[in-house]
Amino acid sequence: MNDKCAIVRDLLPSYIDDICSKESKQFVGEHLGSCDSCRNILNHMKSEVDFPDELNTKERMKAKKPFKQLSEIFKSQKKLTFYVQSLALISLVLGIFFLTNSIAEMKEYKQELRKYDVVDKEKEGITTDVFHILGSSNSVSKQEKEQLLHIFDKYQDKLSYLSIFPAGEIEDWVEENKSVEQEPTTIYPVDYQKAMLVIGSDGFIDRKEQITPSDYDLGNVVMANDKWVVQYEYKDSYESTIERHHQLKYYGPSYWSFFQLPILFFIIFIVVGIIWYYLNEENSQLNGLID
Ligand SMILES: [Zn+2]
Repeated sequence: MNDKCAIVRDLLPSYIDDICSKESKQFVGEHLGSCDSCRNILNHMKSEVDFPDELNTKERMKAKKPFKQLSEIFKSQKKLTFYVQSLALISLVLGIFFLTNSIAEMKEYKQELRKYDVVDKEKEGITTDVFHILGSSNSVSKQEKEQLLHIFDKYQDKLSYLSIFPAGEIEDWVEENKSVEQEPTTIYPVDYQKAMLVIGSDGFIDRKEQITPSDYDLGNVVMANDKWVVQYEYKDSYESTIERHHQLKYYGPSYWSFFQLPILFFIIFIVVGIIWYYLNEENSQLNGLID
């Protein structure tokens, strides 16, 4: 070790921290280029500055910490996965439960609809039969009267009156209620006094003025062709069926409404199921990392 070495070693700390003058820096640099022992000291000092023992432990602790945090995240994620999985399975079970329920409900509803279809078929049947009997003549023969009584008998548990009007007699009324020319229409009754014939449970009724028409517009059906108008009133006892039929036909639930609940739960199942799938994927990756 010469004098130069002693000076250089004095300067080394400020050289390392890069706080010495330009001239000193150049001087130290040149000397280090040619003196191994000073260079060794420089390297030793540098390593001590970068990693002092005490600091080193802290650094290592810090480096370890992310893994500790990672395993904690992993733990809570596993918990989350469990909840998500439970939610997915519960919504699947509920979806299946409500689906079978909905199918049963819809079957019942369809059955009821079929039952009430009878009402529509009867409407067509009665009017078609009466028009068929009356034909295109303007009068009613004795034989035709017998046949009309037959029709009433056929529906006697449902009808209180069956009446026919010559179309010409109530032209104005038909004009005002055009729909009766298209199909059997539930409508407020035509005045019985204008009827040619009225059949009740005791046969033909002579004193038509004594008949009180139903004040319930669903309880009366009228259909007209160019010669005749047919009108029949339902018995009170049959009106609840008529009412229910009307409600189902015009205000019945849509098929979609039966399946709202199962669809809702299946959507939840799919959404939660996708989340579950991705959590599982992530968990197996984390598993690889931690093990
Ligand atoms: Zn030296």
